[in-house]
Amino acid sequence: MAGSQTALREANRAAVVDTVKRHGGLTQVELVGATGLSAATVSTIVKQLLADGVVETRTTTRSGRRAQLVTLAHRVGLAAGVLVGQRHLRVAIADFTHQVVAERVLPMPHEHRVDTSLDRAALLVVDLLERLGLSLDDVVGIGVGLPAPVDEATGMISVRGVMRGWDEVHVAHVLSKRLSVPVHVDNDANLGALAESTRGASRVYRDSVYVRASYGTGAGIVINHQLHRGFAGTAGEIGHVQVDPQGDICRCGSRGCLDTVVGARALVEPLRATHGNLTLRDVVQRANAGDPGCAQVIADAGAQIGAVVSGLAMAVNPQCVVVGGELAETAEILLDPMREAIRRRVLLNQIAPLEVLPAELGGAAEVAGAIALVLQHSDVDLDPRSDADDGVDASDGQLGVGAS
Ligand SMILES: [Zn+2]
Repeated sequence: MAGSQTALREANRAAVVDTVKRHGGLTQVELVGATGLSAATVSTIVKQLLADGVVETRTTTRSGRRAQLVTLAHRVGLAAGVLVGQRHLRVAIADFTHQVVAERVLPMPHEHRVDTSLDRAALLVVDLLERLGLSLDDVVGIGVGLPAPVDEATGMISVRGVMRGWDEVHVAHVLSKRLSVPVHVDNDANLGALAESTRGASRVYRDSVYVRASYGTGAGIVINHQLHRGFAGTAGEIGHVQVDPQGDICRCGSRGCLDTVVGARALVEPLRATHGNLTLRDVVQRANAGDPGCAQVIADAGAQIGAVVSGLAMAVNPQCVVVGGELAETAEILLDPMREAIRRRVLLNQIAPLEVLPAELGGAAEVAGAIALVLQHSDVDLDPRSDADDGVDASDGQLGVGAS
């Protein structure tokens, strides 16, 4: 009996640490909600973890009130996140509480080459660390988001042609060889889904879909709190769902994919005659400033994306769809027609009517997901009392940090 009680206690302790690791920081009340443990059990475990130096508390405000946030102890290391976008690189350094301590965005030319991009990314990581007075030794891993489907087993892009010139490159190998730090690679929309479902708009939901409406469109699927990538990592690649059988040929080789209709090039083209040469950023900014033509283009894109997302929603039955990416910066201009298109097509149930919400983390969602990916892969030694007997205090501060 004593043995099974110890096992239960260890399992509860692991559940609390895992939850803190996933969310970055929670109050004890939130920990009770997230773990399903009783308030007394959570309180006891947090006390032990504090004594063992596994977690720390810091004061914050929740709904206007002061609250104690439980976070992992700072000394367990930093993580770096890199988002390779179509037109920029975004790099952030965060501590184990997911708190970003330094960040940089670097504009890149269209179709930037893989060697220059990875070179810049590596330099940016080192540069940010130096500004913090730190080095690569302080980093447990680097997470990288790519605008392409990624095979989880190999870390390679799993569909040829989607990122021109990147097909033969093992991004994780190149970066980890260069920086001597473990590197984990995933699809950008998957990382957005990971961040929003643990710390953002969909954190309270079990099943959700994250839509990244950007230079291209993709989705990340979360089922039972877990990211669903599919066997080759192509789950949620809604940018390549056919919407126009007579449409243009897509980068992937198919005809009339959603990306050929709502991708950056397709959005700026119909504005050329009236507005001249605009970038996607220009269209977003002008739509927000009240330009009816630019708003129309975004609204039509919202309806097109919504129609495709409704198909995905029928397959997955999520409780909510969270929308991020550059187009989502227009808020309701994109979201309203998207919501309308989704609600018209999905089978609305009585249990959980499908919510369509803006991303809470905004443009930082993907890089936050890259950081979360690193923290998921790094095995913080949860229990410093490794061959623990009951009640023996072996809190000598030997928290091992490694990465798988
Ligand atoms: Zn395609």
